[in-house]
Amino acid sequence: MPSAHRSSTELAERLGARAASCTVVGARPICASLHEVVLHGDPRLAGVPGNDVMVRVRHNGHHVRRRYTVRSVDYDNHRFSIWVSTDHDGAGSAWAQSATAGEALDVIGPRGKITLAESADWHLFIGDVSGLAAFYRLAQSIETPGRAVFIVEIDQDDDALTADFDEGLGVTGIFVDRRDRSRNDPAGLLSGLSAFAFPPDQGHAYVLGEFSVVRALRAALGDRGLRDEDISHKAYWRLGRPNAEHGEPDKSDS
Ligand SMILES: Cc1cc2nc3c(=O)[nH]c(=O)nc-3n(C[C@H](O)[C@H](O)[C@H](O)COP(=O)(O)OP(=O)(O)OC[C@H]3O[C@@H](n4cnc5c(N)ncnc54)[C@H](O)[C@@H]3O)c2cc1C
Repeated sequence: MPSAHRSSTELAERLGARAASCTVVGARPICASLHEVVLHGDPRLAGVPGNDVMVRVRHNGHHVRRRYTVRSVDYDNHRFSIWVSTDHDGAGSAWAQSATAGEALDVIGPRGKITLAESADWHLFIGDVSGLAAFYRLAQSIETPGRAVFIVEIDQDDDALTADFDEGLGVTGIFVDRRDRSRNDPAGLLSGLSAFAFPPDQGHAYVLGEFSVVRALRAALGDRGLRDEDISHKAYWRLGRPNAEHGEPDKSDS
């Protein structure tokens, strides 16, 4: 077994996941800030809605792992897709933009703890475009009737990607224009959130995106009365700090 694959297998075992070699089927820009990469491989890597896969990519002469939430799975053809943010310089961004059909890739999955809160009556998905794949796959798994609200900050109109949902699902989407605010400034999403009146029944929020923005949104959702157990949150990345080699953003306070 090649040593790269052996190290992935050992890591996957420690993480309680699978390691497998996948093949890139294709990669293409789907809006200004995201590339869709379709992979061929064991669809069990893709797990349930909300799960992500860890890919091993080469950057500046060494390998790092990056995590991407699965957007969709084609079980019959053993394919799944991820949406990779590409409007910055980074290992994952560079890989997605240069990925070519036939390329082999070490993948570990399924990973992640965020899944659909099935008992919730309404679901609020809030964050930036790096969370869109997770938001849409989760929302497409909501049993109807139900309600999904999306509040997503975008840099360009072209990033306002939409998705198809079951007719029985009530869907509201708000795209917030970032204008000239910094990417770690939560003001735009906080203002979008304040415009959303929570329905009286049971809700669940999913907060994904930049570290400081996720932190501010969690606090605001708590102030609005959501309990900790009603908020699924994950910092996907942190402004000015590359994610670590194992894929996690820096969560230190310094
Ligand atoms: C569980 C989990 C799931 C994730 N799922 C997704 C997903 O579905 N789609 C996705 O795009 N990302 C997702 N991420 C984030 C992803 O793993 C990468 O960390 C991120 O895309 C940046 O990787 P990179 O190597 O391109 O840049 P890095 O080398 O990590 O960062 C370089 C610099 O780029 C900037 N930067 C990084 N990410 C962004 C961004 N999204 N927008 C603007 N600037 C940025 C930062 O300032 C950083 O200093 C997820 C992360 C985790 C932990």
